[in-house]
Amino acid sequence: HSGIPENLLEKAKRAKALIYDIRTKDTSTRQRLPVVPQGIEKYAFIQALEELAQQLGKANVEINDKLLSVASAVVNPSSTEEVQKIVLWANKYSIPIFPISMGRNLGYGGAAPRVRGSVVIDLDKRMNKILDINPDDYTCLLEPGVSFYALYEAIQAKGFDHMWIDVPDLGGGSVVGNTLDRGVGYTPYGDHWACHSGLEVVLPTGEVIRTGMGALPGNNTWQTFPYGFGPYSDGIFTQSNYGIVTKMGMTLMPNPGAYESYLYTFQKEEDLEALIEITRPLRIGNILENVAQLRHGIQTIAVKGLPRTKYFTGSGAIPESVLDIIDAEFKKIPSARKIDPSTLPKDDYFFSRDRIAAGVPDLVELLWVNWVPNGAHVAFSPVSPIRGTDAMKLYSLGKRRHDEFGIDFLPAFIVGLREMHLIVEIVYDKNDPVKRKAANDCLREMIDDAAKLGYGEYRTHLVLMDQVAGTYNWNDNALMKFNEKLKDALDPKGILAPGKSGIWPSRYRGRGWEM
Ligand code: FAD
Repeated sequence: HSGIPENLLEKAKRAKALIYDIRTKDTSTRQRLPVVPQGIEKYAFIQALEELAQQLGKANVEINDKLLSVASAVVNPSSTEEVQKIVLWANKYSIPIFPISMGRNLGYGGAAPRVRGSVVIDLDKRMNKILDINPDDYTCLLEPGVSFYALYEAIQAKGFDHMWIDVPDLGGGSVVGNTLDRGVGYTPYGDHWACHSGLEVVLPTGEVIRTGMGALPGNNTWQTFPYGFGPYSDGIFTQSNYGIVTKMGMTLMPNPGAYESYLYTFQKEEDLEALIEITRPLRIGNILENVAQLRHGIQTIAVKGLPRTKYFTGSGAIPESVLDIIDAEFKKIPSARKIDPSTLPKDDYFFSRDRIAAGVPDLVELLWVNWVPNGAHVAFSPVSPIRGTDAMKLYSLGKRRHDEFGIDFLPAFIVGLREMHLIVEIVYDKNDPVKRKAANDCLREMIDDAAKLGYGEYRTHLVLMDQVAGTYNWNDNALMKFNEKLKDALDPKGILAPGKSGIWPSRYRGRGWEM
Protein backbone atom coordinates (compact mmCIF):
# COMPACT_ATOMS: atom_id res chain seq x y z
CA HIS A 1 0.00 0.00 0.00
CA SER A 2 2.91 2.29 -0.62
CA GLY A 3 1.95 5.82 -1.52
CA ILE A 4 -1.03 6.00 0.85
CA PRO A 5 -0.42 8.01 4.03
CA GLU A 6 -0.69 5.84 7.14
CA ASN A 7 -3.60 7.75 8.69
CA LEU A 8 -5.62 7.44 5.45
CA LEU A 9 -4.97 3.72 5.34
CA GLU A 10 -6.18 3.34 8.91
CA LYS A 11 -9.23 5.42 8.11
CA ALA A 12 -9.91 3.31 5.03
CA LYS A 13 -9.59 0.10 7.01
CA ARG A 14 -12.08 1.40 9.54
CA ALA A 15 -14.38 2.45 6.69
CA LYS A 16 -14.09 -1.00 5.18
CA ALA A 17 -15.00 -2.66 8.46
CA LEU A 18 -17.91 -0.26 8.78
CA ILE A 19 -19.22 -1.04 5.33
CA TYR A 20 -19.02 -4.74 6.01
CA ASP A 21 -20.80 -4.06 9.25
CA ILE A 22 -23.52 -2.28 7.30
CA ARG A 23 -24.19 -4.87 4.67
CA THR A 24 -22.46 -8.11 5.64
CA LYS A 25 -23.44 -9.68 8.87
CA ASP A 26 -21.76 -12.90 7.87
CA THR A 27 -18.15 -12.65 9.09
CA SER A 28 -17.02 -15.50 6.83
CA THR A 29 -17.32 -13.14 3.84
CA ARG A 30 -15.46 -10.29 5.56
CA GLN A 31 -12.30 -10.94 3.64
CA ARG A 32 -14.07 -10.80 0.29
CA LEU A 33 -13.77 -7.46 -1.46
CA PRO A 34 -15.84 -6.14 -4.36
CA VAL A 35 -14.23 -5.89 -7.76
CA VAL A 36 -12.68 -2.44 -7.64
CA PRO A 37 -12.72 -0.03 -10.61
CA GLN A 38 -9.40 0.25 -12.40
CA GLY A 39 -7.12 3.08 -11.26
CA ILE A 40 -8.42 3.25 -7.67
CA GLU A 41 -6.77 1.73 -4.64
CA LYS A 42 -9.19 -0.65 -2.94
CA TYR A 43 -9.18 0.96 0.50
CA ALA A 44 -9.61 4.40 -1.02
CA PHE A 45 -12.55 2.98 -2.94
CA ILE A 46 -14.11 1.49 0.18
CA GLN A 47 -13.62 4.78 1.97
CA ALA A 48 -15.29 6.65 -0.90
CA LEU A 49 -18.24 4.27 -0.67
CA GLU A 50 -18.48 4.97 3.04
CA GLU A 51 -18.63 8.69 2.27
CA LEU A 52 -21.49 7.99 -0.14
CA ALA A 53 -23.23 5.85 2.48
CA GLN A 54 -23.09 8.82 4.85
CA GLN A 55 -24.87 10.95 2.24
CA LEU A 56 -27.52 8.44 1.13
CA GLY A 57 -27.94 6.31 4.25
CA LYS A 58 -26.09 3.09 4.89
CA ALA A 59 -28.96 0.90 3.73
CA ASN A 60 -28.82 2.50 0.29
CA VAL A 61 -25.22 1.66 -0.58
CA GLU A 62 -24.66 -2.01 -1.05
CA ILE A 63 -21.25 -3.51 -1.70
CA ASN A 64 -21.44 -6.28 -4.24
CA ASP A 65 -18.88 -8.87 -3.19
CA LYS A 66 -20.32 -11.74 -5.18
CA LEU A 67 -17.66 -13.68 -6.99
CA LEU A 68 -17.41 -13.03 -10.76
CA SER A 69 -19.51 -9.89 -10.45
CA VAL A 70 -19.07 -6.97 -12.83
CA ALA A 71 -20.54 -4.27 -10.54
CA SER A 72 -18.65 -3.26 -7.38
CA ALA A 73 -21.62 -1.78 -5.56
CA VAL A 74 -25.26 -0.82 -6.03
CA VAL A 75 -26.70 2.47 -4.81
CA ASN A 76 -30.38 3.31 -4.47
CA PRO A 77 -31.09 7.05 -4.66
CA SER A 78 -34.54 8.34 -3.70
CA SER A 79 -34.62 11.63 -5.61
CA THR A 80 -33.08 13.70 -8.38
CA GLU A 81 -31.03 15.50 -5.69
CA GLU A 82 -29.58 12.20 -4.52
CA VAL A 83 -28.72 11.24 -8.10
CA GLN A 84 -26.86 14.56 -8.33
CA LYS A 85 -24.96 13.71 -5.14
CA ILE A 86 -23.89 10.37 -6.60
CA VAL A 87 -22.71 12.02 -9.80
CA LEU A 88 -20.67 14.62 -7.92
CA TRP A 89 -19.19 11.86 -5.76
CA ALA A 90 -18.25 9.83 -8.85
CA ASN A 91 -16.51 12.89 -10.34
CA LYS A 92 -14.60 13.51 -7.12
CA TYR A 93 -13.11 9.99 -7.13
CA SER A 94 -13.25 9.23 -10.90
CA ILE A 95 -15.41 6.19 -10.22
CA PRO A 96 -17.42 4.76 -13.15
CA ILE A 97 -21.18 4.70 -12.51
CA PHE A 98 -23.87 2.90 -14.54
CA PRO A 99 -27.57 3.87 -14.26
CA ILE A 100 -30.36 1.35 -14.70
CA SER A 101 -34.08 1.91 -14.34
CA MET A 102 -35.08 -1.66 -13.48
CA GLY A 103 -32.20 -3.53 -15.09
CA ARG A 104 -34.36 -6.05 -16.92
CA ASN A 105 -32.65 -5.44 -20.24
CA LEU A 106 -32.75 -9.16 -21.00
CA GLY A 107 -31.03 -10.12 -24.24
CA TYR A 108 -29.09 -6.83 -24.18
CA GLY A 109 -27.00 -7.14 -21.00
CA GLY A 110 -29.52 -7.13 -18.13
CA ALA A 111 -28.44 -4.91 -15.24
CA ALA A 112 -24.71 -5.30 -15.88
CA PRO A 113 -22.42 -2.30 -16.43
CA ARG A 114 -19.99 -2.27 -19.35
CA VAL A 115 -16.89 -1.52 -17.22
CA ARG A 116 -15.89 -3.91 -14.46
CA GLY A 117 -16.02 -2.35 -11.00
CA SER A 118 -18.66 0.26 -11.92
CA VAL A 119 -21.11 1.36 -9.26
CA VAL A 120 -24.63 0.61 -10.50
CA ILE A 121 -27.23 3.31 -9.79
CA ASP A 122 -30.44 1.35 -9.37
CA LEU A 123 -33.36 3.75 -9.81
CA ASP A 124 -35.94 1.02 -9.33
CA LYS A 125 -36.17 0.65 -5.56
CA ARG A 126 -36.78 4.22 -4.43
CA MET A 127 -37.56 6.23 -7.57
CA ASN A 128 -40.64 4.35 -8.69
CA LYS A 129 -43.41 6.92 -8.42
CA ILE A 130 -46.06 7.61 -11.02
CA LEU A 131 -45.96 11.40 -10.67
CA ASP A 132 -48.99 12.12 -12.83
CA ILE A 133 -51.63 10.43 -14.97
CA ASN A 134 -53.61 12.99 -16.95
CA PRO A 135 -56.93 11.55 -18.20
CA ASP A 136 -57.71 14.61 -20.34
CA ASP A 137 -54.41 14.90 -22.19
CA TYR A 138 -53.80 11.10 -22.21
CA THR A 139 -50.32 11.49 -20.73
CA CYS A 140 -48.32 10.44 -17.70
CA LEU A 141 -45.11 11.49 -15.93
CA LEU A 142 -42.97 8.69 -14.53
CA GLU A 143 -39.90 8.01 -12.44
CA PRO A 144 -37.50 5.35 -13.79
CA GLY A 145 -38.63 2.57 -11.44
CA VAL A 146 -42.21 2.41 -12.78
CA SER A 147 -42.81 -0.91 -14.53
CA PHE A 148 -45.29 -1.50 -17.35
CA TYR A 149 -47.29 -3.59 -14.88
CA ALA A 150 -47.35 -0.78 -12.30
CA LEU A 151 -48.48 1.79 -14.87
CA TYR A 152 -51.15 -0.52 -16.23
CA GLU A 153 -52.45 -1.32 -12.75
CA ALA A 154 -52.49 2.35 -11.70
CA ILE A 155 -54.56 3.28 -14.76
CA GLN A 156 -56.95 0.40 -14.05
CA ALA A 157 -57.18 1.34 -10.35
CA LYS A 158 -58.18 4.89 -11.25
CA GLY A 159 -60.90 3.52 -13.54
CA PHE A 160 -59.42 5.26 -16.59
CA ASP A 161 -60.82 2.72 -19.05
CA HIS A 162 -60.52 5.21 -21.88
CA MET A 163 -56.70 4.91 -21.92
CA TRP A 164 -54.32 2.15 -22.99
CA ILE A 165 -50.62 1.80 -22.40
CA ASP A 166 -48.25 0.06 -24.81
CA VAL A 167 -46.15 -2.87 -23.58
CA PRO A 168 -43.17 -4.84 -24.93
CA ASP A 169 -43.25 -8.66 -24.91
CA LEU A 170 -42.15 -8.68 -21.28
CA GLY A 171 -44.11 -6.30 -19.06
CA GLY A 172 -41.81 -6.65 -16.03
CA GLY A 173 -39.35 -3.96 -17.20
CA SER A 174 -39.29 -0.21 -16.73
CA VAL A 175 -41.21 2.16 -19.02
CA VAL A 176 -38.35 4.68 -18.80
CA GLY A 177 -35.53 2.10 -19.21
CA ASN A 178 -37.19 0.42 -22.18
CA THR A 179 -37.94 3.76 -23.85
CA LEU A 180 -34.37 5.04 -23.32
CA ASP A 181 -33.09 1.87 -25.01
CA ARG A 182 -35.60 2.67 -27.82
CA GLY A 183 -37.61 -0.48 -27.13
CA VAL A 184 -40.82 -1.37 -28.93
CA GLY A 185 -44.31 -2.62 -28.15
CA TYR A 186 -47.19 -3.72 -30.34
CA THR A 187 -50.11 -1.27 -30.26
CA PRO A 188 -50.15 1.75 -32.61
CA TYR A 189 -48.02 3.41 -29.85
CA GLY A 190 -45.37 0.71 -30.23
CA ASP A 191 -42.48 3.09 -30.98
CA HIS A 192 -41.95 4.05 -27.34
CA TRP A 193 -39.40 6.77 -27.96
CA ALA A 194 -41.69 8.46 -30.50
CA CYS A 195 -44.41 8.47 -27.82
CA HIS A 196 -42.41 10.07 -25.01
CA SER A 197 -42.73 13.77 -24.22
CA GLY A 198 -40.22 15.54 -21.98
CA LEU A 199 -37.27 14.42 -19.85
CA GLU A 200 -35.60 15.49 -16.65
CA VAL A 201 -31.90 14.62 -16.81
CA VAL A 202 -28.97 14.77 -14.40
CA LEU A 203 -25.90 15.53 -16.51
CA PRO A 204 -22.55 13.79 -15.86
CA THR A 205 -21.24 16.91 -14.11
CA GLY A 206 -24.25 17.12 -11.79
CA GLU A 207 -26.48 19.84 -13.33
CA VAL A 208 -30.18 19.04 -13.87
CA ILE A 209 -32.03 19.97 -17.06
CA ARG A 210 -35.61 19.57 -18.23
CA THR A 211 -36.07 19.17 -21.98
CA GLY A 212 -38.82 20.46 -24.28
CA MET A 213 -41.50 22.54 -22.55
CA GLY A 214 -40.07 21.44 -19.19
CA ALA A 215 -37.51 24.23 -19.51
CA LEU A 216 -40.27 26.84 -19.23
CA PRO A 217 -41.22 27.46 -15.58
CA GLY A 218 -44.96 27.18 -14.93
CA ASN A 219 -45.69 25.41 -18.24
CA ASN A 220 -48.61 23.00 -18.59
CA THR A 221 -47.41 21.43 -21.85
CA TRP A 222 -44.36 19.35 -20.83
CA GLN A 223 -46.16 16.09 -21.66
CA THR A 224 -48.20 17.37 -24.61
CA PHE A 225 -45.59 19.14 -26.79
CA PRO A 226 -42.28 17.28 -26.87
CA TYR A 227 -40.14 19.87 -28.66
CA GLY A 228 -40.18 23.19 -26.73
CA PHE A 229 -37.87 25.75 -28.32
CA GLY A 230 -34.39 25.51 -29.77
CA PRO A 231 -32.37 22.38 -30.53
CA TYR A 232 -34.22 19.19 -29.68
CA SER A 233 -31.82 17.44 -27.32
CA ASP A 234 -33.89 14.49 -26.05
CA GLY A 235 -32.46 12.00 -28.55
CA ILE A 236 -28.93 12.24 -27.19
CA PHE A 237 -30.08 10.72 -23.91
CA THR A 238 -31.18 7.44 -25.55
CA GLN A 239 -28.77 4.49 -25.89
CA SER A 240 -26.10 6.89 -24.66
CA ASN A 241 -23.95 7.83 -21.69
CA TYR A 242 -24.70 11.57 -21.63
CA GLY A 243 -27.10 11.78 -18.68
CA ILE A 244 -29.24 10.01 -16.09
CA VAL A 245 -32.93 10.41 -16.77
CA THR A 246 -34.88 10.97 -13.55
CA LYS A 247 -38.34 11.75 -15.01
CA MET A 248 -39.98 11.04 -18.36
CA GLY A 249 -43.31 12.02 -19.85
CA MET A 250 -45.22 9.44 -21.90
CA THR A 251 -48.30 9.71 -24.07
CA LEU A 252 -51.11 7.19 -23.64
CA MET A 253 -53.34 5.74 -26.33
CA PRO A 254 -57.10 6.22 -26.46
CA ASN A 255 -58.89 2.90 -25.97
CA PRO A 256 -60.17 2.14 -29.49
CA GLY A 257 -63.28 0.50 -28.05
CA ALA A 258 -62.72 -2.80 -29.83
CA TYR A 259 -59.90 -4.65 -31.53
CA GLU A 260 -59.25 -7.99 -33.14
CA SER A 261 -56.02 -10.00 -33.28
CA TYR A 262 -55.36 -12.19 -36.29
CA LEU A 263 -53.33 -15.34 -36.53
CA TYR A 264 -52.28 -16.65 -39.92
CA THR A 265 -49.96 -19.59 -40.44
CA PHE A 266 -47.71 -20.16 -43.46
CA GLN A 267 -46.25 -23.51 -44.11
CA LYS A 268 -43.20 -22.81 -46.24
CA GLU A 269 -40.21 -20.68 -45.35
CA GLU A 270 -40.23 -19.36 -48.95
CA ASP A 271 -43.64 -17.80 -48.21
CA LEU A 272 -41.81 -15.16 -46.17
CA GLU A 273 -41.01 -12.94 -49.17
CA ALA A 274 -44.59 -12.65 -50.42
CA LEU A 275 -45.90 -12.28 -46.89
CA ILE A 276 -43.69 -9.28 -46.19
CA GLU A 277 -44.67 -7.68 -49.52
CA ILE A 278 -48.34 -7.99 -48.57
CA THR A 279 -47.73 -6.65 -45.07
CA ARG A 280 -45.89 -3.46 -46.13
CA PRO A 281 -48.77 -1.48 -47.72
CA LEU A 282 -51.13 -2.68 -45.00
CA ARG A 283 -48.81 -1.32 -42.31
CA ILE A 284 -47.79 1.93 -44.03
CA GLY A 285 -51.44 2.59 -44.83
CA ASN A 286 -52.31 1.88 -41.17
CA ILE A 287 -54.88 -0.72 -42.23
CA LEU A 288 -52.96 -3.10 -39.99
CA GLU A 289 -52.75 -0.64 -37.09
CA ASN A 290 -50.72 -2.73 -34.68
CA VAL A 291 -47.03 -3.58 -34.95
CA ALA A 292 -47.23 -6.95 -36.71
CA GLN A 293 -45.11 -9.96 -35.73
CA LEU A 294 -44.01 -12.73 -38.06
CA ARG A 295 -42.66 -15.53 -35.97
CA HIS A 296 -40.92 -18.71 -37.02
CA GLY A 297 -42.53 -22.03 -36.10
CA ILE A 298 -39.71 -23.10 -33.73
CA GLN A 299 -40.03 -19.83 -31.87
CA THR A 300 -43.71 -20.41 -31.38
CA ILE A 301 -42.95 -23.88 -30.06
CA ALA A 302 -40.12 -22.64 -27.80
CA VAL A 303 -42.42 -20.18 -26.10
CA LYS A 304 -44.58 -23.06 -24.87
CA GLY A 305 -41.88 -23.43 -22.21
CA LEU A 306 -40.95 -27.07 -22.85
CA PRO A 307 -37.30 -28.07 -23.42
CA ARG A 308 -36.13 -28.66 -27.00
CA THR A 309 -35.43 -32.30 -26.05
CA LYS A 310 -39.20 -32.78 -26.16
CA TYR A 311 -38.94 -32.30 -29.94
CA PHE A 312 -35.36 -33.19 -30.80
CA THR A 313 -32.60 -34.91 -28.85
CA GLY A 314 -29.74 -34.75 -31.38
CA SER A 315 -26.92 -32.22 -31.33
CA GLY A 316 -26.74 -29.10 -33.51
CA ALA A 317 -29.63 -27.08 -34.90
CA ILE A 318 -32.97 -28.84 -35.31
CA PRO A 319 -32.97 -30.27 -38.86
CA GLU A 320 -35.58 -29.46 -41.46
CA SER A 321 -37.02 -33.00 -41.35
CA VAL A 322 -37.99 -32.59 -37.70
CA LEU A 323 -39.48 -29.21 -38.48
CA ASP A 324 -41.64 -30.86 -41.11
CA ILE A 325 -43.05 -33.09 -38.39
CA ILE A 326 -43.73 -30.10 -36.18
CA ASP A 327 -45.22 -28.35 -39.17
CA ALA A 328 -47.43 -31.35 -39.77
CA GLU A 329 -48.54 -31.10 -36.16
CA PHE A 330 -49.50 -27.49 -36.69
CA LYS A 331 -51.43 -28.47 -39.76
CA LYS A 332 -53.73 -30.48 -37.55
CA ILE A 333 -55.19 -27.12 -36.66
CA PRO A 334 -58.17 -26.68 -39.03
CA SER A 335 -56.66 -26.14 -42.42
CA ALA A 336 -57.67 -22.53 -43.11
CA ARG A 337 -54.75 -20.14 -43.18
CA LYS A 338 -56.57 -17.78 -40.90
CA ILE A 339 -56.84 -19.46 -37.53
CA ASP A 340 -60.03 -19.04 -35.58
CA PRO A 341 -58.87 -18.33 -32.00
CA SER A 342 -61.79 -20.32 -30.58
CA THR A 343 -60.18 -23.47 -32.03
CA LEU A 344 -56.96 -22.90 -30.09
CA PRO A 345 -56.18 -24.34 -26.66
CA LYS A 346 -56.67 -21.79 -23.88
CA ASP A 347 -52.93 -21.70 -23.09
CA ASP A 348 -51.93 -21.07 -26.71
CA TYR A 349 -49.36 -18.31 -27.11
CA PHE A 350 -51.83 -16.47 -29.37
CA PHE A 351 -53.68 -15.26 -26.27
CA SER A 352 -50.54 -13.76 -24.79
CA ARG A 353 -50.01 -11.87 -28.05
CA ASP A 354 -53.65 -10.84 -28.03
CA ARG A 355 -53.21 -9.28 -24.57
CA ILE A 356 -49.98 -7.54 -25.59
CA ALA A 357 -51.71 -6.15 -28.71
CA ALA A 358 -54.12 -4.40 -26.33
CA GLY A 359 -51.40 -3.05 -24.03
CA VAL A 360 -51.91 -5.61 -21.25
CA PRO A 361 -48.56 -6.60 -19.65
CA ASP A 362 -47.51 -10.23 -19.93
CA LEU A 363 -44.48 -12.45 -19.23
CA VAL A 364 -45.20 -15.65 -21.18
CA GLU A 365 -42.47 -15.00 -23.74
CA LEU A 366 -39.86 -15.56 -21.04
CA LEU A 367 -40.69 -19.28 -21.20
CA TRP A 368 -38.14 -19.52 -24.02
CA VAL A 369 -35.42 -19.87 -21.40
CA ASN A 370 -36.66 -23.43 -20.77
CA TRP A 371 -35.67 -24.38 -24.32
CA VAL A 372 -32.20 -25.40 -23.06
CA PRO A 373 -30.90 -26.06 -19.52
CA ASN A 374 -29.71 -22.89 -17.67
CA GLY A 375 -31.16 -20.86 -20.54
CA ALA A 376 -29.96 -17.30 -21.17
CA HIS A 377 -30.84 -14.88 -23.97
CA VAL A 378 -28.82 -12.74 -26.30
CA ALA A 379 -30.38 -10.90 -29.24
CA PHE A 380 -29.45 -10.04 -32.84
CA SER A 381 -31.66 -7.17 -34.00
CA PRO A 382 -31.00 -5.77 -37.50
CA VAL A 383 -33.31 -3.26 -39.18
CA SER A 384 -34.53 -3.29 -42.78
CA PRO A 385 -37.30 -1.85 -44.93
CA ILE A 386 -40.49 -3.94 -45.05
CA ARG A 387 -39.46 -5.70 -48.22
CA GLY A 388 -39.56 -9.33 -49.16
CA THR A 389 -36.05 -9.33 -50.64
CA ASP A 390 -34.58 -7.82 -47.46
CA ALA A 391 -36.47 -10.31 -45.31
CA MET A 392 -35.11 -13.23 -47.33
CA LYS A 393 -31.53 -11.90 -47.20
CA LEU A 394 -31.62 -11.47 -43.43
CA TYR A 395 -33.41 -14.75 -42.93
CA SER A 396 -30.89 -16.76 -44.95
CA LEU A 397 -27.94 -14.96 -43.35
CA GLY A 398 -29.20 -15.85 -39.87
CA LYS A 399 -30.14 -19.41 -40.80
CA ARG A 400 -26.75 -20.11 -42.37
CA ARG A 401 -24.81 -18.88 -39.34
CA HIS A 402 -27.10 -20.69 -36.87
CA ASP A 403 -26.62 -23.93 -38.78
CA GLU A 404 -22.86 -23.36 -38.84
CA PHE A 405 -22.73 -22.93 -35.04
CA GLY A 406 -25.32 -25.63 -34.30
CA ILE A 407 -27.85 -23.24 -32.77
CA ASP A 408 -31.62 -23.36 -33.23
CA PHE A 409 -32.80 -20.38 -35.27
CA LEU A 410 -35.65 -18.47 -33.57
CA PRO A 411 -36.38 -15.45 -35.77
CA ALA A 412 -39.28 -13.00 -35.62
CA PHE A 413 -39.84 -9.98 -37.85
CA ILE A 414 -41.37 -7.06 -35.94
CA VAL A 415 -43.03 -4.84 -38.52
CA GLY A 416 -43.10 -1.15 -37.50
CA LEU A 417 -44.55 1.48 -39.81
CA ARG A 418 -41.91 1.71 -42.55
CA GLU A 419 -39.20 -0.59 -41.23
CA MET A 420 -38.98 -3.94 -39.57
CA HIS A 421 -36.61 -5.35 -36.99
CA LEU A 422 -35.57 -8.95 -37.31
CA ILE A 423 -35.24 -10.15 -33.73
CA VAL A 424 -33.27 -13.36 -33.33
CA GLU A 425 -32.98 -14.45 -29.71
CA ILE A 426 -30.22 -17.00 -29.19
CA VAL A 427 -31.16 -19.11 -26.19
CA TYR A 428 -28.08 -20.89 -24.82
CA ASP A 429 -26.89 -22.80 -21.75
CA LYS A 430 -25.07 -20.13 -19.78
CA ASN A 431 -23.14 -22.71 -17.76
CA ASP A 432 -21.67 -24.35 -20.84
CA PRO A 433 -18.55 -22.48 -22.10
CA VAL A 434 -18.78 -24.12 -25.54
CA LYS A 435 -22.39 -23.01 -26.01
CA ARG A 436 -21.58 -19.54 -24.66
CA LYS A 437 -18.75 -19.17 -27.18
CA ALA A 438 -20.90 -20.47 -30.03
CA ALA A 439 -23.61 -17.88 -29.20
CA ASN A 440 -21.04 -15.08 -29.10
CA ASP A 441 -19.25 -16.17 -32.29
CA CYS A 442 -22.52 -16.62 -34.16
CA LEU A 443 -23.65 -13.11 -33.17
CA ARG A 444 -20.37 -11.52 -34.14
CA GLU A 445 -20.43 -13.20 -37.56
CA MET A 446 -24.05 -12.14 -38.15
CA ILE A 447 -23.30 -8.51 -37.26
CA ASP A 448 -20.46 -8.43 -39.81
CA ASP A 449 -22.47 -10.32 -42.45
CA ALA A 450 -25.40 -7.93 -42.02
CA ALA A 451 -23.18 -4.82 -42.17
CA LYS A 452 -21.67 -6.05 -45.47
CA LEU A 453 -25.20 -6.13 -46.88
CA GLY A 454 -26.00 -2.65 -45.50
CA TYR A 455 -28.01 -3.70 -42.42
CA GLY A 456 -27.34 -2.39 -38.89
CA GLU A 457 -28.65 -3.32 -35.43
CA TYR A 458 -31.24 -1.07 -33.75
CA ARG A 459 -29.95 -2.06 -30.32
CA THR A 460 -27.43 -4.53 -28.98
CA HIS A 461 -25.96 -6.42 -26.03
CA LEU A 462 -23.28 -4.68 -23.93
CA VAL A 463 -20.60 -7.09 -25.10
CA LEU A 464 -21.29 -6.31 -28.77
CA MET A 465 -21.63 -2.53 -28.54
CA ASP A 466 -18.15 -1.72 -29.85
CA GLN A 467 -18.61 -3.99 -32.83
CA VAL A 468 -22.05 -2.66 -33.71
CA ALA A 469 -20.95 0.97 -33.21
CA GLY A 470 -18.03 0.17 -35.54
CA THR A 471 -20.42 -0.74 -38.36
CA TYR A 472 -21.94 2.78 -38.29
CA ASN A 473 -18.71 4.16 -39.73
CA TRP A 474 -19.72 6.25 -42.78
CA ASN A 475 -17.31 9.06 -43.71
CA ASP A 476 -14.37 7.87 -41.64
CA ASN A 477 -16.37 7.24 -38.44
CA ALA A 478 -17.78 10.77 -38.48
CA LEU A 479 -20.73 9.87 -36.25
CA MET A 480 -18.55 8.27 -33.55
CA LYS A 481 -16.19 11.26 -33.65
CA PHE A 482 -19.19 13.50 -33.01
CA ASN A 483 -20.40 11.22 -30.19
CA GLU A 484 -16.96 11.29 -28.59
CA LYS A 485 -16.79 15.08 -28.83
CA LEU A 486 -20.13 15.30 -27.02
CA LYS A 487 -18.97 12.77 -24.44
CA ASP A 488 -15.81 14.67 -23.63
CA ALA A 489 -17.68 17.97 -23.38
CA LEU A 490 -20.49 16.65 -21.18
CA ASP A 491 -18.48 14.17 -19.10
CA PRO A 492 -14.88 15.40 -18.86
CA LYS A 493 -14.00 12.92 -16.09
CA GLY A 494 -15.55 10.05 -18.09
CA ILE A 495 -17.55 8.65 -15.16
CA LEU A 496 -20.95 7.91 -16.71
CA ALA A 497 -21.43 4.46 -18.26
CA PRO A 498 -18.07 4.37 -20.07
CA GLY A 499 -18.30 2.29 -23.24
CA LYS A 500 -22.10 2.31 -23.51
CA SER A 501 -23.01 2.11 -27.22
CA GLY A 502 -19.29 2.01 -28.01
CA ILE A 503 -18.77 5.58 -26.74
CA TRP A 504 -15.63 5.72 -24.60
CA PRO A 505 -14.58 8.82 -22.69
CA SER A 506 -11.11 10.16 -23.49
CA ARG A 507 -9.44 8.60 -20.43
CA TYR A 508 -10.48 5.11 -21.58
CA ARG A 509 -10.27 5.60 -25.36
CA GLY A 510 -7.73 3.51 -27.24
CA ARG A 511 -6.46 1.85 -24.05
CA GLY A 512 -7.69 -1.64 -24.82
CA TRP A 513 -11.25 -1.41 -23.46
CA GLU A 514 -12.92 -1.85 -26.84
CA MET A 515 -14.01 -5.41 -27.71
P1 FAD B 1 -33.29 -1.08 -18.07
O1 FAD B 1 -32.53 -2.34 -18.04
O2 FAD B 1 -33.52 -0.38 -16.80
O3 FAD B 1 -32.67 -0.02 -19.07
C1 FAD B 1 -32.11 -0.35 -20.31
C2 FAD B 1 -30.79 0.41 -20.49
O4 FAD B 1 -31.08 1.80 -20.63
C3 FAD B 1 -29.87 0.32 -19.27
O5 FAD B 1 -28.97 -0.74 -19.38
C4 FAD B 1 -29.17 1.66 -19.27
O6 FAD B 1 -28.03 1.60 -20.06
C5 FAD B 1 -30.17 2.60 -19.87
N1 FAD B 1 -30.93 3.32 -18.83
C6 FAD B 1 -31.95 2.81 -18.09
N2 FAD B 1 -32.45 3.73 -17.28
C7 FAD B 1 -31.74 4.85 -17.49
C8 FAD B 1 -31.83 6.16 -16.95
N3 FAD B 1 -32.76 6.47 -16.07
N4 FAD B 1 -30.96 7.09 -17.39
C9 FAD B 1 -30.03 6.78 -18.33
N5 FAD B 1 -29.92 5.56 -18.89
C10 FAD B 1 -30.77 4.60 -18.48
N6 FAD B 1 -37.64 -5.25 -25.63
C11 FAD B 1 -38.51 -4.49 -26.31
O7 FAD B 1 -38.32 -3.29 -26.42
N7 FAD B 1 -39.63 -5.03 -26.87
C12 FAD B 1 -39.92 -6.35 -26.76
O8 FAD B 1 -40.95 -6.79 -27.24
C13 FAD B 1 -39.01 -7.18 -26.05
N8 FAD B 1 -39.23 -8.51 -25.93
C14 FAD B 1 -38.33 -9.29 -25.29
C15 FAD B 1 -38.56 -10.67 -25.25
C16 FAD B 1 -37.65 -11.51 -24.62
C17 FAD B 1 -37.93 -12.98 -24.56
C18 FAD B 1 -36.48 -10.97 -24.05
C19 FAD B 1 -35.47 -11.84 -23.39
C20 FAD B 1 -36.24 -9.59 -24.08
C21 FAD B 1 -37.16 -8.75 -24.71
N9 FAD B 1 -36.95 -7.35 -24.78
C22 FAD B 1 -37.85 -6.58 -25.47
C23 FAD B 1 -35.75 -6.73 -24.21
C24 FAD B 1 -35.89 -6.27 -22.73
O9 FAD B 1 -36.30 -7.33 -21.92
C25 FAD B 1 -36.86 -5.09 -22.54
O10 FAD B 1 -36.58 -4.05 -23.43
C26 FAD B 1 -36.87 -4.51 -21.12
O11 FAD B 1 -37.99 -3.66 -20.98
C27 FAD B 1 -35.61 -3.69 -20.80
O12 FAD B 1 -35.43 -3.64 -19.41
P2 FAD B 1 -35.82 -2.37 -18.51
O13 FAD B 1 -37.08 -1.82 -19.07
O14 FAD B 1 -35.80 -2.80 -17.08
O15 FAD B 1 -34.67 -1.32 -18.83
